[in-house]
Amino acid sequence: MLGQLMRLLVPLACAGCQREGSVLCQQCGAQYRLMTQQCGGCGVASRHGRTCERCQKSAGSGVHQLRGVGVALRYDGPVKQAVLDLKFKGQRWAADDLASWYQDLIPAEAFDVVTCVPISPERYRERGYNQSELLAKAVARQLHIPYRSCLGRYSNSHQLGLGRTDRLKQVAGVFYSTIQRPPKRVLIVDDVVTTGATLNECARLLRASGATEVWGLALARH
Ligand SMILES: [Zn+2]
Ligand SMILES: [Zn+2]
Repeated sequence: MLGQLMRLLVPLACAGCQREGSVLCQQCGAQYRLMTQQCGGCGVASRHGRTCERCQKSAGSGVHQLRGVGVALRYDGPVKQAVLDLKFKGQRWAADDLASWYQDLIPAEAFDVVTCVPISPERYRERGYNQSELLAKAVARQLHIPYRSCLGRYSNSHQLGLGRTDRLKQVAGVFYSTIQRPPKRVLIVDDVVTTGATLNECARLLRASGATEVWGLALARH
């Protein structure tokens, strides 16, 4: 409701060509579309970004807790701008727009809930919303399945500038599970992925709480 009203008041413009109507028009977004999905651990081409069997068995892959991670776009140019605007400029009504880029990526599995990667309470207070939650809710609406908050985040963690191994260590102890009776099949939505370490840690917690299958979905990859 509010989103639709804001859309009328503040017309969205494409971060690439400034054309009105969408924060990322079809033409501009298509140039950044990832045509091949890959295993988040080793990069081998894989449908819907399914984690290959070798990486599912290897803790060193950093994504072994995830059944797969689908990524829509390359994080660059207008894609990057649109994500930053959603995150920092309060353009929360742009989430519905951006969520449409997930469409072809969602695996055919029937999910019980859609959830998101949480941000810290400090950041939530500062920003007033979590952009990944907005994206996750938009995906839940697309799929006609419920959105549920399943995870929390303790406090700000500064991941910038860390290498892959440091990131893997860093994400442990950042999140916690908030669910009592866990959903079995969970689709967890994030805005941007780099190594997959964050999604993997979230998947680990969800599985430790009883979820059997966790898939990730990200708008863009660094
Ligand atoms: Zn455009
Ligand atoms: Zn792999």
